[in-house]
Amino acid sequence: MDRIKESIEKYDTIILHGHIRPDGDCIGSQYGLYYLIKDNYPNKKVFITGESSEYVGFIGKPTLIEDKHFEGALSICLDCAIQDRLSDQRFKLSKEVIKIDHHIPVEDYGDYQYVDVTAPACAQIITEFYMKNQNEWTLSKEAATALYVGISTDTGRFKFDSVNARTFLAAATLVEQGVNLGYIDNQLSVEDLNTLKLKGYILSNFKISEHGFVYATLTREEIESFHVSDEDAAAQVSTISTIEGCPVWALFLEYSKEEIRIRLRSRGPVINLLAEQYRGGGHAKASGATLLNWNELDEFVRKADEIVKNYKHNS
Ligand code: AMP
Repeated sequence: MDRIKESIEKYDTIILHGHIRPDGDCIGSQYGLYYLIKDNYPNKKVFITGESSEYVGFIGKPTLIEDKHFEGALSICLDCAIQDRLSDQRFKLSKEVIKIDHHIPVEDYGDYQYVDVTAPACAQIITEFYMKNQNEWTLSKEAATALYVGISTDTGRFKFDSVNARTFLAAATLVEQGVNLGYIDNQLSVEDLNTLKLKGYILSNFKISEHGFVYATLTREEIESFHVSDEDAAAQVSTISTIEGCPVWALFLEYSKEEIRIRLRSRGPVINLLAEQYRGGGHAKASGATLLNWNELDEFVRKADEIVKNYKHNS
């Protein structure tokens, strides 16, 4: 962290990157670090690049930046284990690149990496970065709000077993800065009617394999017929998360004929190794992967079913 601080102090221009299809932790980490730097080094030029997220759009939405800004700049890549998944590949134009992440490392990239797989959210790492320098730095309410959203979304609102005592210390530090918990909960919880109808459809149509792998599929036509965004449809993975006897679940979303995105989740068995077999990866209990067509579905379901079977057998 001292090394990262030195780099931040050294560069006049700092660009903060996130991954494709950013989630609350990605956007929360980007904006949290953005405000942290701006609040404490007001003369630096800091940019956020990459995609925006409707779900956490209330934190902020990145705007396009020009190539010239990367010249002689520091790029900090947040919440992304694999460089191909960074949404703005122009970090390669920067003078120095730092990766800050909490995923199981898949590949090395950048000049310097800070990876802490015991942190349930990248935003927790950024918060701890602030806490380490608390005597010297201030943390604005904007920074604290973004970081709190990052931590709370990536921990399922402080529920997942990746949450540890450090998570609550970090959250407490953020709450001390005046984070409005009711406002954040409201922003994250309210659903529109179309999304609720889709939820009902998923609850009526999910399937369960022989040993208890639960999954729902959504074709392109189905997603469009509900008039919801891909992001809102993808968020429905949690709809099938609570079924007794089903410790692994997944939502399959057809983005195109050649790209069926899998959101894979577990409350027991390790699933990232299965995701890695299907062009994906992630955490032991939260992973993503891709099918190239629906013909791959049966085999995937068989393998997931086998994982559940072995888990039940051993526990
Ligand atoms: P998601 O279902 O997209 O929220 O992904 C769950 C976790 O797996 C996140 O931490 C992602 O960063 C990670 N992940 C998703 N897709 C991939 C992929 N194709 N390769 C590596 N990691 C992934």
